[in-house]
Amino acid sequence: MFDYLIVGAGFAGSVLAERLASYSNKKVLVIDKRPHIAGNAYDHYNEEGILVHKYGPHIFHTNSKEVFEYLGQFTEWRSYEHRVLASVDGQQVPMPINLDTINQLYGLNLTSFELDKFFESVAEKVDTVRTSEDVVVSKVGRELYEKFFKNYTRKQWGMDPSELDKSVTSRVPTRTNRDDRYFTDTYQAMPLHGFTKMFEKMLDHPNIKIMLNTDYHEIIDFIPFKEMIFTGPVDEYFDFKFGKLPYRSLEFKHETLNKEVFQPVAVVNYPNDHLYTRITEFKYLTGQQHQKTSVVYEFPRAEGDPYYPVPRPENAELYNQYKKLAEATPNVHFVGRLATYKYYNMDQVVAQALTLHKKLTGGPKDELPA
Ligand code: FAD
Ligand code: UDP
Repeated sequence: MFDYLIVGAGFAGSVLAERLASYSNKKVLVIDKRPHIAGNAYDHYNEEGILVHKYGPHIFHTNSKEVFEYLGQFTEWRSYEHRVLASVDGQQVPMPINLDTINQLYGLNLTSFELDKFFESVAEKVDTVRTSEDVVVSKVGRELYEKFFKNYTRKQWGMDPSELDKSVTSRVPTRTNRDDRYFTDTYQAMPLHGFTKMFEKMLDHPNIKIMLNTDYHEIIDFIPFKEMIFTGPVDEYFDFKFGKLPYRSLEFKHETLNKEVFQPVAVVNYPNDHLYTRITEFKYLTGQQHQKTSVVYEFPRAEGDPYYPVPRPENAELYNQYKKLAEATPNVHFVGRLATYKYYNMDQVVAQALTLHKKLTGGPKDELPA
């Protein structure tokens, strides 16, 4: 008899498995329908020996000391600050939009102060910022919105920014200084030996058993357990009782090139050209030295593995129906990006899992072992 059956070996499932097994001495079975652990953060050495992220670029960043220190028990870190360029009007310019972006794009020599004034002069007045279009046009005006956001978002989400919640484009700030980092979090680092190695260490405990290539439907009636932690799609768990929750998918096209460097930074975004949204070159993320280089192209898709919950009011309403049902389901706990239908980054999922562990065990506030 297992104390917990954990469905999904991504961040949500693996953090809970580790905490329940090592802190709370519970017997845990972790299953995943994929042939590997680490969920969407899975990385591996490809046939040429280059470390790549199978499900697209994963860059770790957080403001939470607790989350950073918790994961630090399972990996050494390599400091890494992420930089992105956007290909616009035949140039590759810094993204998020900053002072250099505007000066380069328009051949100007503005100061930060002048850029502030420029943004003020082009910003559209929006009474209540509700949508992903509102967020951008109210800050930088329509022209920059159309160059950097409109078409990227239409491609990525299959809908206009005006149909998406403001939280989507709010992820990308606008700056009047020259800071060209994609993130400004306190802690920005990559696991030195990759994400999968970190997960292996997390799950390496005598109280944890792992079954891969296993959908929970296949085993649920045969394996005895007391409680379940579910990290798959919440609508699937309830057999789509209230209808399907929309998820956006991606197709990844991986390529290895016979040259040392392909592009000037880790990620180049293509808002207005091509069917893909961005190209990532992995060696920037991992720091690996190699004579060849591996890249991935991301093609947004309506069908396929569920990667992104789609933030818009009617989906939030539909999710709330599932949430009520989830809360009323005894001995099953829903956690993670798919099970709580939230566009969460990795660190937010880790924090959510640590919080659930505290709730389950009524444990002390200080989660970290001495
Ligand atoms: P997942 O990692 O999806 O794990 C859920 C697991 O459950 C999966 O392995 C799945 O196979 C398994 N499962 C589902 N259904 C079943 C079933 N029926 N039976 C058995 N197993 C099942 N976050 C960042 O912080 N930084 C980034 O740079 C970043 N980049 C991203 C890029 C892309 C393209 C995507 C899609 C996401 C990115 N994220 C990033 C978000 C990050 O991937 C997630 O926050 C995190 O991986 C979510 O962890 P999770 O455990 O909730 O879900
Ligand atoms: N976005 C955009 N242009 C860009 C970068 C981002 O329009 O060059 C919008 C787009 O809607 C995207 C959202 O901002 O989905 C969030 O961007 P982020 O880079 O955080 O996306 P993720 O890495 O989660 O795919």
